[in-house]
Amino acid sequence: MSKVELKPAVAEPLVNLVVVDYAGIARGRGVPRRAFDESHGIKTCGWVPANMSLTTFDIIADPNPWGSRGDLRLVPDNRARYACWPSQAATPLDIVMCDITELDGAPWICCPRNFLKSALADFKAETGCDFIATFEQEFKVLGAEWEAASSFGLSALRRADPFGSEVVAALEQAGIPIEMFVAEYGRDQFELTTPPSEGVAAADRAVVIREVVREIARHKGWRASFVPKAEVAGVGNGVHVHFSFVGPKGEPAAYDANGLGRMSALAASFAAGVLRHLPALIALTAASPVSGLRLKPHNWSSSYTWLGEKDREATLRICPTVTMGGKDPAKQYNLEFRAADATASPHLVLGVLIRAGLEGIRARLPAPPIFSGDPDALAPSERENAGLRRLPDTLEGALECLAADHVVRGWFAAEALETYTGMKRMELKLAEGLSGDALCQRYAGVY
Ligand code: GLU
Ligand code: MG
Repeated sequence: MSKVELKPAVAEPLVNLVVVDYAGIARGRGVPRRAFDESHGIKTCGWVPANMSLTTFDIIADPNPWGSRGDLRLVPDNRARYACWPSQAATPLDIVMCDITELDGAPWICCPRNFLKSALADFKAETGCDFIATFEQEFKVLGAEWEAASSFGLSALRRADPFGSEVVAALEQAGIPIEMFVAEYGRDQFELTTPPSEGVAAADRAVVIREVVREIARHKGWRASFVPKAEVAGVGNGVHVHFSFVGPKGEPAAYDANGLGRMSALAASFAAGVLRHLPALIALTAASPVSGLRLKPHNWSSSYTWLGEKDREATLRICPTVTMGGKDPAKQYNLEFRAADATASPHLVLGVLIRAGLEGIRARLPAPPIFSGDPDALAPSERENAGLRRLPDTLEGALECLAADHVVRGWFAAEALETYTGMKRMELKLAEGLSGDALCQRYAGVY
């Protein structure tokens, strides 16, 4: 027998082929990095249709359209490779975002990334504009056992040091520029903001930011959670989607100095489309039993079909622009959609937002009224006159709104809708025995 000489096997870095499913969870498979790079990124791997029916609780919805049948591929998008090496990680965190395809490469009808891509392509074809966006994400650190610190406090930032610096360094290494790392209003709550990018990249970045934050927190023995509410009485974690349009010559296309709220006709119709379909959108953007705990009035989140300016309770907020030093407001002008959270797939969130906006553009809807005040203080008839409808604040209610909106349902292939709603109904069933803080904690452990 020949002698086998062994040297210690050093860790072989993996490239993670990642998709974010209907439950908003990043799932995937690791492949050896050398093999991946030698294949020039054309390495694909197997995937299973019923995976899209997995709930938050990791139980596959029953019934679902797929069962044990069928095969798919995860196809890496090499322009969407995000690799960094957080200082305490044993190997690099190397993520490549994937599309889910049939075996012949055709997009799979349930692929959330393809859903977004096709919405973006239609937006471009019908308006001549590019859609740009960025996700502003809040999260809470659990288990750090810090002393209490003031909201927005310097001490709240410094007691976490070097957490913020490590997160920023890792994300920048991964090619995601960070504008701000913020100590937020809530206890042990933080927020990350990043400049806008093209639509698919914006959603991909949102995913990578969550994973990097969670990983670096984990290295420190904490848990970073993007859960919409970590406790019923606590401050919510929002996902605020800022978006704008860029015309064919690179000119800002959402801004018109003379428009209502300085919206261009395009932006006004887009906003009107979003508001029209908003109750049904909630089933896809803030889509869990815990999401409704955040969508309450006076929480600075959102709770009505409300277009507002200079008000953080509005669901669609016209963001401020800065003119000091001769800065051009047109280039900064953007709208913010505040009724999303991390239990939803960022690709679906952006996809349905664009689809709803496009409906408004096709119907040439006029600018919706800009409301200012407290909708809760109005009589029902006054709210109706102002176009203010209460957003569903339960998942059951949101699914009913989705069932009642045939336009929104029409954006999805029948099997995709069946997969999505079946999974959400199963989630409701699994969460049945949980309420209040126990529900929040269960979700905080996943998101
Ligand atoms: N935490 C709030 C939310 O749940 C947002 C607060 C803010 O940054 O305006 O959306
Ligand atoms: Mg915030």
